[in-house]
Amino acid sequence: MQKFIAKPVFIENDANAAAYGEFVAGAAKGATHAVCITLGTGVGGGIIIDGKIYAGFNYAGAEIGHTVIEVDGPPCTCGRKGCFEVFSSATGLIRMTKEAMAEHPETLMHKMLPASGRVTARLAFEAMRAGDKTAKQVTDKYIKYLAAGITNTINTFQPDILCIGGGVCNEGDPLLLPMMEIVRREVYTRNSPKNTKIVIAQLGNDAGLIGAAFLGLDKQKAQQ
Ligand SMILES: [Zn+2]
Repeated sequence: MQKFIAKPVFIENDANAAAYGEFVAGAAKGATHAVCITLGTGVGGGIIIDGKIYAGFNYAGAEIGHTVIEVDGPPCTCGRKGCFEVFSSATGLIRMTKEAMAEHPETLMHKMLPASGRVTARLAFEAMRAGDKTAKQVTDKYIKYLAAGITNTINTFQPDILCIGGGVCNEGDPLLLPMMEIVRREVYTRNSPKNTKIVIAQLGNDAGLIGAAFLGLDKQKAQQ
């Protein structure tokens, strides 16, 4: 790439670059320590400590999605079982929705399936809002595991801002309010007047691009 564009080229992990984007120009702007968690196909993590990306010695130091929250839980793509990602990714939500539908032929979710017949991450939340009991069990479980992973992350890093992004966040208050309620109740510093602010990511898919651009600029400045 360097040869083709005649500019210095640096390499960074995509989730780390996305976290840096939110830190420089998005939801985590103004923080000193920040963690960004993206709920997508997987659960991506990026950690900023003292304004700098923390990547470990091998760029894999922020794999928050692959910390186990249920020993011997369902298998994860990484080879372990019961990872945060297995439950809190959109893929995880779809899996739990399908399991509940198989077990409950009476659930409204069967009738609410889109024409394509494909189960989406939205289905359980839509059916829950329509008053379906089984869908509510799915969303409650999703929220419980998400809160566990986020509380673990806050207990480890105590960031001033933790931002969460990804399509699932579009569910808004019915997802976020109960999740934050569990975190507030369980976090180690619950009795402290100072606690991590949980916010929604602002830059969407551009976070990685913006972060990468600023990182290149910063690294170039550091070299001069
Ligand atoms: Zn894993």
